[in-house]
Amino acid sequence: MGSRREERVKITLPVFTSSEWPPHYDAHMPGARILIVEDEPQLRSLLRLYLERDGHQVTDVGDGMAALAAFDADGADLVILDLMLPGMQGEAVLEALREGGGVPILITSAKRTDAERIAGLRLGADDYLAKPFNPHELTARVAAILRRTRPPTAAEEGILSLERGRLVLDPASRRYTLTGADATGEPVPVAGRLTPGEAALLVALARRPGTVLSREVLLEAVARRPDEVYERVVDVHVANLRRKLGDDAGAPWLIETIPATGYRLVASRDDS
Ligand code: CA
Repeated sequence: MGSRREERVKITLPVFTSSEWPPHYDAHMPGARILIVEDEPQLRSLLRLYLERDGHQVTDVGDGMAALAAFDADGADLVILDLMLPGMQGEAVLEALREGGGVPILITSAKRTDAERIAGLRLGADDYLAKPFNPHELTARVAAILRRTRPPTAAEEGILSLERGRLVLDPASRRYTLTGADATGEPVPVAGRLTPGEAALLVALARRPGTVLSREVLLEAVARRPDEVYERVVDVHVANLRRKLGDDAGAPWLIETIPATGYRLVASRDDS
């Protein structure tokens, strides 16, 4: 027939229509559990001091194996990870942490070129702070990550679902289940977990289906740091989402690239 395949994405946002998701971090909440992985003892102590001052519970370790052991034993709400470590490299630690779930990860590293930053973010880090840095900058980044990754309270809990692909995202765990998304119509169940950045990006797109959102707007949704604009972060998150959800940049059913502008969630309008 050659007729264009009907794209139909129905969006339901039962809970987050009026309040923002992810919700803001509540300053009255108990501090987060933060795992510092840093082989330089002085810097490690300094970071611990600053984070404890902010009310966080801090565990610090000097190498990757100790980091994975500490994470296995006690978990963490956020990991601050140096990349250049003795023994196991930070990149390998990051991958191992990612396999264990969606804990937010902030990379601190002397590797500071754009390519190195992008490589870290592509592995699934949530933010990247180049050394040397001001400890206040680190605590600000930590607060920003916690704001956008804190699990919703019971009142905020809900399901974001996209029909046609039947994509269901649980914002608390960021686990998703996707069925029937294959371009040929074959039901193909896929399940996994999004990073906080990927989930925030998907939610931002899903709230305005069919609307083109610029990289700037999307960066604001995922990073909330318009002063530090490296918009390729958005491209990295979109690429990761497409890979996880089986979307095809060349024939997208979920996220369409608008050249030189940004992205939009593919959706039909009921005006025919
Ligand atoms: Ca180091």
